Amino acid sequence: MNAPEKPAVDPEPHVMHTYGRLPMAMSHGEGCWVWDTDGNKYLDGLGGIAVNTLGHAHPKLVPALQEQIGRLIHTSNYYGAPLQEELAAKLCELSGLTRVFFCNSGLEANEAALKIARKFGHDKGIERPEVIVYEKAFHGRSIATLSATGNPKVQAGFGPLVEGFVRVQLNDVAAIENAAVAHPNVVAVFLEVIQGEGGINPATNDYLRDLRRLCDEHDWLLMLDEVQCGTGRTGKWFAHQWAGIVPDVVPLAKGLGSGVPIGAVVCGPRAAEVLQPGNHGTTFGGNALAMRAGIETLRIMEEDHLLENAATVGAALRASLTRELTGLAGVVEIRGQGLMLGIELDRPCGDLLLRAARGGLLISVTADRVVRLVPPLILNLAEAEQIATILGGLIKDFLENPEQP
Ligand SMILES: *Cc1c(COP(=O)(O)O)cnc(C)c1O
Repeated sequence: MNAPEKPAVDPEPHVMHTYGRLPMAMSHGEGCWVWDTDGNKYLDGLGGIAVNTLGHAHPKLVPALQEQIGRLIHTSNYYGAPLQEELAAKLCELSGLTRVFFCNSGLEANEAALKIARKFGHDKGIERPEVIVYEKAFHGRSIATLSATGNPKVQAGFGPLVEGFVRVQLNDVAAIENAAVAHPNVVAVFLEVIQGEGGINPATNDYLRDLRRLCDEHDWLLMLDEVQCGTGRTGKWFAHQWAGIVPDVVPLAKGLGSGVPIGAVVCGPRAAEVLQPGNHGTTFGGNALAMRAGIETLRIMEEDHLLENAATVGAALRASLTRELTGLAGVVEIRGQGLMLGIELDRPCGDLLLRAARGGLLISVTADRVVRLVPPLILNLAEAEQIATILGGLIKDFLENPEQP
């Protein structure tokens, strides 16, 4: 995106300049709506980047978290952690997998997955294990996860990159078969089921089933980064469940805590015993507050049928967007699943971010030319219709008047 014009006076002289921020600050929210510090109201099509699963100030989540904060926030992993076991058991039930490691963010979940892959290799005598990763992938901004990421912009300035990655194109089975021949040290395949930052690019169900088969044939781990597309966003608990496959390692984060920082690596039997005492750890990971946020998020999702909601409201939103945008020269494609949708334009459209905010709608733009919608899973049909109408108008106006602010 084009960074908004630098104001003459730096409004945040003490915060490091890592983000190109828009000229508004949020004050509070309720449901799918957010208010800024000047009292302007926004419809939240972004959900804090696929984080605010339950929207803002959810009436069931808030009292549960207040109760938890008053009781216990953190104790360290020196002691038993019943809330970790409770959330882990729930994630295993929903995924069909067997053990979970808890951490604090998406990159940490992916970092743990990569450590599991390497040790899985070492345990079977492969001294220099390699992991297959993807063009346009995004896995985070630590040194290892930015090395796995398939975006030169994320990597620029941070070399030398971590070695041990073999990169292929998404949805190209032949590329994997070739990699298996050319790289005998491969131990795992690592991909997002729907690439988020890369522009809402889904792996096809056939491709995922082929990967499962190839991973079985070659004794590789199938590791699916569901940090963004997981936790019910597509209308199933996990996006890979649309393909009817069971992976070996599933990193989760964003939507799992409804805004409370959390990460999790959910593992099946081939991966669950790889990390042993002393191999990995984190101070904050699995703390009582984050675990309670995860437990309540999943409980409320079930109680309020939010998977069904994501599927039906997502389909309605997509249909309304199609109605608004079909026939517009400049609109390339609408894609995604459930409440994870992308609208690809034929030109860079980062300016839409500010235009949308000025029009009362929060969105984001990924991969330069893809408008991304990842709203809270509590979005209702009326709100979906509102998003489509506002965004339809904004995109038409942007395509007709690209220069106008
Ligand atoms: C956001 C994201 C990450 C990184 O998560 P952080 O919590 O920002 O570290 C990793 N993978 C995917 C697919 C993501 O969307």
